[in-house]
Amino acid sequence: MIVRTRFAPSPTGFLHIGGARTALFSWAYAKKHGGAFILRIEDTDVARSTPEAVQAILDGMQWLGLDYDEGPFYQMQRMDRYKQVIQTMLQQGSAYYCYSSKTELDTLREQQMADKQKPRYDGKWRPEAGKVLPAIPTDISPVIRFKNPQDGVVVWDDLVKGRIEIANSELDDLIIARADGTPTYNFCVVVDDWEMGITQVIRGDDHVNNTPRQINMLKALGAKIPQYAHLSMILGGDGQKLSKRHGAVSVMQYDEDGYLPEAVLNYLSRLGWSHGDEEVFSMHQFCEWFDLDHITSSAAQFNTEKLNWLNNHYIKQASAESLLGDITKRLAKLNVSVSETPNLPAVIDLYKERANTLNELAASIAYFYQKPIMDLVAAEKHLTVEIKPAIATLADLLKAVDWQAEAIHHAINEVVTQYQLKFPKVAMPLRVMLTGIAQSPSIDQVMKLMGREEVLARITNH
Ligand code: GLU
Repeated sequence: MIVRTRFAPSPTGFLHIGGARTALFSWAYAKKHGGAFILRIEDTDVARSTPEAVQAILDGMQWLGLDYDEGPFYQMQRMDRYKQVIQTMLQQGSAYYCYSSKTELDTLREQQMADKQKPRYDGKWRPEAGKVLPAIPTDISPVIRFKNPQDGVVVWDDLVKGRIEIANSELDDLIIARADGTPTYNFCVVVDDWEMGITQVIRGDDHVNNTPRQINMLKALGAKIPQYAHLSMILGGDGQKLSKRHGAVSVMQYDEDGYLPEAVLNYLSRLGWSHGDEEVFSMHQFCEWFDLDHITSSAAQFNTEKLNWLNNHYIKQASAESLLGDITKRLAKLNVSVSETPNLPAVIDLYKERANTLNELAASIAYFYQKPIMDLVAAEKHLTVEIKPAIATLADLLKAVDWQAEAIHHAINEVVTQYQLKFPKVAMPLRVMLTGIAQSPSIDQVMKLMGREEVLARITNH
């Protein structure tokens, strides 16, 4: 069997983290089995679907590198095909016209609610052998309903949730075409999964309730039933439904906030799936390991600290050259334009160790290219009158020293000894004068990169 999976987002908003994980798992499953991954845009909810949302989905997939082998297919462009299938079903007797009016259905519903029954269609227009149907009203455009089996059960072995069994008596006859002839959501999904030859439907568990109905329709069409894997929700760190409160939810917001796609992918792959204790791995490795047996059926919790930790890992691993363009852009957003000196790749190399995001990295090196912004508390603490003579002596030494980290370090040490101070007593004020803040990588390295002239200018200005 050739594996064919799909990602079928409705373009009603951005590509969110939950959707991206669904896409990732479907993609990885197809890759692992040498199959095909299909992108299908479920845009039949015309009122809520927008071209911007379609674009946001395509952008998100591209940013993550989730390439599809077929598609994007748009359901709105397949309307004629759905209508054809409905006609066939009408002819074969697995679908029928229903002329119940809205008022009639509302009354039925109210009655059922009053009787504490589950609201359901009463089957008035359902054709049965020997049953005489009511006279067709002339003032009603009919909907079309699927003739759901009334007996027996629908069973499937969900690859995540295990065996699920629903009695057909629980399911009423679903509307598959509205009065204006447009096919409904569940029906389009069925036709597409069938005609696109989907072998594994991997999707969010908010669709579990649709599955028995979809299976019945697939059976009626004589289609092979795919396997289903319903992924549990992703919750925020506080156990609540994931929302803006928990940070970014749109995939592209992560780009905006300075996350690398490698980190987001690695993070998402561990949301509800595991391979022993492995935490850090490439997508190549993920596709080799990925299976549906190791997906947890409980909800996964989003953990921003872990994502930051992974992002820091991938930033550290990235070469300065590969980050150059990105960091330059992020600096420009901070109104910082990069000059030739200090050498940006060298600066990135020195600072990337400590950055959780590319935005943090850009912000942390801005002072190389613009006047530092003084942390007044740090300035008051470290730039004392007593330290001034030592700093002045150091400035003199620095004028002549060979401009290498080691020699600079040596010069600071000389001053430390001469004034009988501890190293930080000199290093801290230096830091504050040069960078505006009290934390930086090793100060001699910072000075080396900043250049003699700039260092002396920043020291003497105090
Ligand atoms: N379009 C549905 C959604 O965005 C997914 C349908 C499916 O995967 O079957 O939730």
